[in-house]
Amino acid sequence: MKEPDEHTACLRAGEMPTPQLFHSGKKIGIVENGKVVLGSQSFRPEGHVPPDGTEVIIRLLNGPGAVRIAFESKAEREAYDAWLNAEWERRRREEQAERERRIEEASIERERIVADLNERVPFRWTTGIRVVLSGVLEHSHLTGTNRRSVNHIATLEDIECGRLRRKAQEFLCSTDPGRMWGHVDDEERKGCPTCPKCMEIVERLIMNPKLVVHRKDEDEPAGPAP
Ligand SMILES: [Zn+2]
Repeated sequence: MKEPDEHTACLRAGEMPTPQLFHSGKKIGIVENGKVVLGSQSFRPEGHVPPDGTEVIIRLLNGPGAVRIAFESKAEREAYDAWLNAEWERRRREEQAERERRIEEASIERERIVADLNERVPFRWTTGIRVVLSGVLEHSHLTGTNRRSVNHIATLEDIECGRLRRKAQEFLCSTDPGRMWGHVDDEERKGCPTCPKCMEIVERLIMNPKLVVHRKDEDEPAGPAP
């Protein structure tokens, strides 16, 4: 739908414009006998003449010479505005649905990754994050308390594979906490690993004949990382 056309009309030369024209509110006139009428004044259209009885929205244009107005059909303007609002609303809903669809897809994908790893990783594991000493999450861009951009894989059992040795509660990608300390999720509430290094290592460990898992006693609760 296109915006209504705007046309112009002109007051007879020398006639004083009505003060109504200078009000900031919406000025509604009507077409009568081929003229645009506002209150007691009538303006002669300079081009297009709408049919008599058409309500028009008027705004004041400056001269030159005579007082000129611009006008457009009130019905067309209202129809256009309504269409525009509906269009915005439709687009807003579409974008919202698209956002929800993406969130849903991402969550299905995360569940798929976790389920797949649960099936294939031959030791108990969970996810965890590194926290910088200031309390700021690693790579978190300070965007919110629960935003965690990097989920590492933490083993929940002591494992060895060639030169790689990890104790329970340690991350696969690094044992060096540096300026950070780790937070390890509950096993039942693990997230989806997003650390590329951890993912690479876990794939190397799966099905690796050199992997040795030192099973923890089931009754002994896993202690906190040293
Ligand atoms: Zn990692």
